[in-house]
Amino acid sequence: MCIRNTYTKGREKPVNTPSDLSGGEIAPVTCPQCSEQQVVETTTVLRPGETAVQELFEGELNCVTCEACETRFFLDIPLLYRDDEVRWLIHFMPLEDATQWEKAEKQMESLSESIFDSGDAIDLPDCRLTLTRRTFIEKISLLQHRLDDRLVEYIKYQLYRAPDSEIDPIRNELLYDFSSKDSNRLAFIIFDRESGQAAAATHIDFDLYQELAAESAEDEGLGDALDELFPGYYVNVDRLL
Ligand SMILES: [Zn+2]
Repeated sequence: MCIRNTYTKGREKPVNTPSDLSGGEIAPVTCPQCSEQQVVETTTVLRPGETAVQELFEGELNCVTCEACETRFFLDIPLLYRDDEVRWLIHFMPLEDATQWEKAEKQMESLSESIFDSGDAIDLPDCRLTLTRRTFIEKISLLQHRLDDRLVEYIKYQLYRAPDSEIDPIRNELLYDFSSKDSNRLAFIIFDRESGQAAAATHIDFDLYQELAAESAEDEGLGDALDELFPGYYVNVDRLL
């Protein structure tokens, strides 16, 4: 399976965002093409090893084919990936305007507070917020590979800001390339934000990642910097650019 296909698939079709699907498994949806209504089964919670995760990565999750006109479209409904073993929650809140991340982050904070109200702070799971399908997939993939997503976002920032960098923060989005088979590299794909198409690739040596990871485990220096750079649930280089 090619990462490029997975990522671009999510951008091909118009987005349908019924308002009340967040908790439901069965929901009425309207075709964005011909307005035909039908009832479909939706997935909102994913756990490691489930088929739904595979479907998400293949661009098939919550993808509906209209019974009337055969248009395929995505239900961009909120999703939650929960890995109870390592106590991680990754939320996907589809937003048309990703610059609204501050608002989304606040919403999520109050949601978490209400869920974990009585809990001891020490027992709280790690939480992340994503606003696009492809960053949702990226976060899950980083967790699966046991990579530190804050460090990966920090590395992206360095790649954007390198003096000879040709990666434009406005035009390009950098995403971790989980399909890369080269274990000596931490690979990234450079996407064109507007078209959603993969435009180029870049990487750093995995040794460098490991050095930084060791450094960031310390309380001072890089470890401190990561805490400051990514104080909330929205751990994304976009908040630094
Ligand atoms: Zn239709």
